[in-house]
Amino acid sequence: MIDKHMLNDTLNVLISIGIFGIILILLVTHIRNAKRIKKVRNTSVLLEELNKTNEKTHFHCCETKYTQSRMMLSKPAYDRYSCGHLLDDILLDAQHSFHKLLAKVKENREKYNDYKSEIDKLKSTITEEEAKRLGVPYQGYLEIEKALFAKQQLSPTVDVTLTCIVEYTSPAGRNHYSKSNTYSYTNVIQRLCALEEISKHKESETYKRKMERAKMTPKLRFAVIERDGRRCQICGARQEDGAILHVDHIIPVARGGKTEMSNLWTLCDMCNLGKGTQILENDV
Ligand SMILES: [Zn+2]
Repeated sequence: MIDKHMLNDTLNVLISIGIFGIILILLVTHIRNAKRIKKVRNTSVLLEELNKTNEKTHFHCCETKYTQSRMMLSKPAYDRYSCGHLLDDILLDAQHSFHKLLAKVKENREKYNDYKSEIDKLKSTITEEEAKRLGVPYQGYLEIEKALFAKQQLSPTVDVTLTCIVEYTSPAGRNHYSKSNTYSYTNVIQRLCALEEISKHKESETYKRKMERAKMTPKLRFAVIERDGRRCQICGARQEDGAILHVDHIIPVARGGKTEMSNLWTLCDMCNLGKGTQILENDV
C-alpha cells in the first residue's frame, strides 16, 4: 500500500517540474524571438528604408484634444446658450491661434498623405536563402519585419477635437446642469469658414453702404431741395420759416436704398425726427 503522503509529495514534485518546464520553454522561446527580432531589425532593408523616410519627414507636434467650458450665471442664460454658441465664441475669441493650429494639422495631413504613399511603395527584399543564412525561418522573418514596419511608422496628429461644455449650478448648489458637444477637425474648419464668410459679408455690406452714402454730393443735395420747391415734403415748412432742411433717403441705405433723385426727398428737422426710430436707427 502506497503512503498517501508520499503520493502527494510525488504529485507536487511532478507539478513543480511541469511548471518549471513550461517556464523554461517560455523563456527559451522568448530569448529566441528576441534574437530573431534583433536580427530582423539589423538586417532588414525595408526597415532601413523606412527609417530613412522617417528621418527626412517632419511633422508638427500638436495636441489632439481640446476642451473648453463655460459656466453660465443663470438657468435662462444656460438654456439660451448652446454648445454651438460656445464654439462660435471660442473661434471668434481665439481665431488667430485656432487658425495656426488648424494650419498645422492641415499641413500634417498633406505631408502624411505623401509620407504614406512613399512608404506604401517600400517592399521587403528578404529572400528565403538570406533568411536561412541568418537562422530565421523565412515566414517568421516576414512576420517580424511586418510588425516592426507597422510599429516604426510615424503617426502625426491629423485630427483634433474640440469639446465644448456649457454648465450651470444653481445658487445653493442643489442642481447642476451640463451639456457638451465634441467637434471634429472638419466641423471646426467648416464653422470657422462660415464665420469668416459672415464677417466678410458684413464688411462688404458696410463698405457698400459707405459708398452709397458718399454719393450724396452738395450738387445732388441742392438739386433735390430745388426740385422739392425748398419745402419739407411732409409738413411744407420752408427755410424762410426758420426750418432746417435735410435731404433724406426715402428707403434707407441700410435697407438697400440708393442715393439718387428718385429715392431722395427734402425734410425739415422736426419731420426728419418724426420719421420714426425704426427708420432713423437703420438709416445710419
Ligand atoms: Zn416737416
